[in-house]
Amino acid sequence: MAERWSLGSALRGMFAKRTIDDETWTDLEDALIKADFGPDVTEQVVDDLRAKVQRYSTTDPRDLQRMLRETIEEKLSAFDTTLKLSERPAVVLVVGVNGVGKTTTIGKFARFLRTYDRSVLIGAADTFRAAAVDQVATWAERAGAGIVRPQHEGQDPASVAFQTVEKAKNDGTEIVIIDTAGRLQTKGGLMDELGKIKRVVEKQAPISEVLLVLDATTGQNGLAQAEAFIQHAGVTGLVLTKLDGSAKAGFVLAVQEKTGIPIKLIGQGEGINDLTGFTPHVFAQNLVG
Ligand code: GDP
Ligand code: GDP
Ligand code: MG
Repeated sequence: MAERWSLGSALRGMFAKRTIDDETWTDLEDALIKADFGPDVTEQVVDDLRAKVQRYSTTDPRDLQRMLRETIEEKLSAFDTTLKLSERPAVVLVVGVNGVGKTTTIGKFARFLRTYDRSVLIGAADTFRAAAVDQVATWAERAGAGIVRPQHEGQDPASVAFQTVEKAKNDGTEIVIIDTAGRLQTKGGLMDELGKIKRVVEKQAPISEVLLVLDATTGQNGLAQAEAFIQHAGVTGLVLTKLDGSAKAGFVLAVQEKTGIPIKLIGQGEGINDLTGFTPHVFAQNLVG
């Protein structure tokens, strides 16, 4: 994982000191805020650690480092981060605002599933922009997944989604991933469209996951933009993209705490293999060192 993810450089001085002192606590708070943990989580974590340090009456910064790692892992683990893909077909709807990385994530996710020998069919239901269909089709090809395109320009996205699930059922395809638009004339219009996609798909198969894609570089701001999806789209999991370019890894914890929705996938680059599942232990280890 990229060095920029890690709190390492911000904390190195602190953990290298001889003893925990007042400065340690302000340094820790600064580092957490800077990494976009947000004020609430930062306060919780610092309070938690102060209590632990007192309870174990330690003055060793290395104890504090271990406790920080454990506290973060514990908080991250309060959520079930495993993807639910046991239905056949398992239908995954991918939603989020424009430019966050939905289509790229779909390409990477399809590849990820293909490496486990799952058959994958992608529905190009972002019919709002013609280029979007070609973009997702290119990813499908690279990933070794099938694709269902609109049969004519501007075809109803719900109808494309319907045909995708229908084809998957006929062919015995295991996983269906539906790409969606991030912008319409109005937010209300987009939520209505997503609602219609869901209703139409559910005529044929239950929806296993609704994944909301968030761009980690936009942090708390991006979360505010995605509020409508959280309110109306029945989101079951989060995908955090662009963690490779972000010094805001603390957002990972803040976003789960704020939304109550588990992170299920992490994107860390533009390449087809730059997607992983989310493992709290590994993440905390990389973050804190
Ligand atoms: P969509 O509008 O939500 O479908 O977003 P796209 O999938 O088209 O991606 C928008 C831009 O973000 C593209 O230039 C992608 O290459 C880039 N992108 C997506 N995921 C990542 C990631 O994990 N890391 C980086 N660095 N770039 C990404
Ligand atoms: P409506 O368009 O508001 O009447 O909503 P519906 O739920 O009836 O259908 C939504 C979209 O899904 C329509 O544009 C249809 O093309 C598509 N759809 C719904 N049911 C079927 C079906 O049985 N077969 C096919 N091919 N498409 C369907
Ligand atoms: Mg897209």
